[in-house]
Amino acid sequence: MSRPISRRTLLITALTAGIGALAAFLYRRSQPVYVVVEPDAAIPPQGLTIISRAEWGAREPDHEASGEYGFADRATEPAWYVYPDPLPDVYNTVAIHHSASLLSTNETMASVQNLHMDRNHWADVGYHYAIDKGGLIYEGRDIHVRGSSVGGYNTGTIGVVVMGNFEYDEPLDVQLTVLQTLINWLTTTYTLTHLAGHGEFNPESVCPGKNMLPHLDTLAQIAGLQRGTDGHVKPT
Ligand SMILES: [Zn+2]
Repeated sequence: MSRPISRRTLLITALTAGIGALAAFLYRRSQPVYVVVEPDAAIPPQGLTIISRAEWGAREPDHEASGEYGFADRATEPAWYVYPDPLPDVYNTVAIHHSASLLSTNETMASVQNLHMDRNHWADVGYHYAIDKGGLIYEGRDIHVRGSSVGGYNTGTIGVVVMGNFEYDEPLDVQLTVLQTLINWLTTTYTLTHLAGHGEFNPESVCPGKNMLPHLDTLAQIAGLQRGTDGHVKPT
């Protein structure tokens, strides 16, 4: 015959359960919150608002830019390259970058574009999408145009930059949450297979920073992507 449970035992059990639940709650709060997007999303899902080029005041691309060739896959290819449709046949990999400007600076999408056009002499901002420190997403280079973000591997690669210098800064929770949502959407929309950090394509680069690198596996896993550069298909 089992002993009846005393009130004291019940109290201790309840207290233990309460402390456990509180600890679990606090632990979850300290983790980035990832939002999983339904796989059939063909348009940006609710909560994924993308600030258009017109809205952030983008400059027009400079088709005469002298430096754009540096990021073409082959020197013989036109620098400004508009992909043939359908785009899901073109894209396979999303490359993650940091902007290398500290979060404490007042970096804007316009300043990133100015840097790429005026210092690097590229035709336009090099990335297709950017996420700022407030978690806002910006439309970068037209998704129909080959990006300038990974030397020698731009064809078929979508470039996404997260503002900050993640050699020094920690990526903000809001940035990771929005990045996950954006990657999920890009994956389903363009039937991507792989996610890579910039430095995996170009080992001389520390981009996207040592504090972002540990998040790449999780970002890829949740989106259903493989990690690394193996998805890249050399243009024929
Ligand atoms: Zn980069």
